[in-house]
Amino acid sequence: MKWIVNDLNIKKQADDLGISIWQTPSLLFLIMGIISIIVMIVVYFVSRNHTSPEYLILAETFVTVTIFVAGNMIITSVEKLTQINKMKSEFVAIVSHQLKNPLTGINWDIELLISKYKKGLDQKQLDIIKKINGSTILMTRLVNDLLDVVRIDQGNLFVNKDKFNIEGIIKKTIVKNESLTRQMNVEIRVEISDNTPQIVGDEKRLEVALDNLFSNAVKYNKEGGVVVIKVEKKNKEINLCVEDNGIGIPEKEQAQIFEKFYRSEKAIRKETGGTGLGLYIAKNIVEQCGGKIWFKSSEEKGSKFCFSLPLA
Ligand code: ADP
Repeated sequence: MKWIVNDLNIKKQADDLGISIWQTPSLLFLIMGIISIIVMIVVYFVSRNHTSPEYLILAETFVTVTIFVAGNMIITSVEKLTQINKMKSEFVAIVSHQLKNPLTGINWDIELLISKYKKGLDQKQLDIIKKINGSTILMTRLVNDLLDVVRIDQGNLFVNKDKFNIEGIIKKTIVKNESLTRQMNVEIRVEISDNTPQIVGDEKRLEVALDNLFSNAVKYNKEGGVVVIKVEKKNKEINLCVEDNGIGIPEKEQAQIFEKFYRSEKAIRKETGGTGLGLYIAKNIVEQCGGKIWFKSSEEKGSKFCFSLPLA
């Protein structure tokens, strides 16, 4: 029922797509339907009074031409939308690529400054450099997210089939988020058996997916909260879950949580930085690697995000 109402809300569609109302495919389709019905009724009445084949051929040609013109208008409108969408993706890809190189340079220089020339700097200077470092890490993450989104939208998110142990990416993710964890004063627990079997998937990309789930669990937690990473073997799969006892996701927003750019009102109010791309990317990566992703959440109690991957 809801989708019918959405389909008929042509003004909203035009606003969402950034085109005029007369270019909206739904409206064109509606007009095409109405015109076809009117033309067919007219043809019916006309042909009742004129039984000669010339009239019938003329009437049929008229119906065909009307449908052809209206159909052509719809196709042109859809083509225009596809072209705009393609141009937008290309623009984001070019900008992100151009931003990536200078950012990598800045990151290297900061790391060099901190590791080699630390002695020549006083505490205040070091604090400032660490702040700059934090900002460039955030910017790098954003640029990488944008590049991944473009790859997903263009159907170019190719994944490798590596055999690897999941413990490695868990450790790296925890280290990567150390400063965020400290800042939020969140305790991290890892529950994993010693002989976890190897899994198949793209190690680098799955690290990104786990990083998104883990950093969310920390970010949307409460002061002094807990994050538990749990790995379990189930039949021919491995389940990895990241559980927190943070702010949770309201039930009415849960259906949209994996949508591109979606951020819950609570998250926006909490003023945590974010783009709403993390879960969209994580879902696409896990599914491309042949796994599944799901979650359970309860407002004010916490969330549990899990994904499964095939065993090697
Ligand atoms: P971002 O964190 O950049 O906003 P994500 O795609 O990672 O984007 O998450 C989308 C939204 O899902 C978040 O804005 C937040 O509202 C909600 N969310 C994700 N993970 C959690 C979590 N562990 N606890 C509460 N809300 C979450």
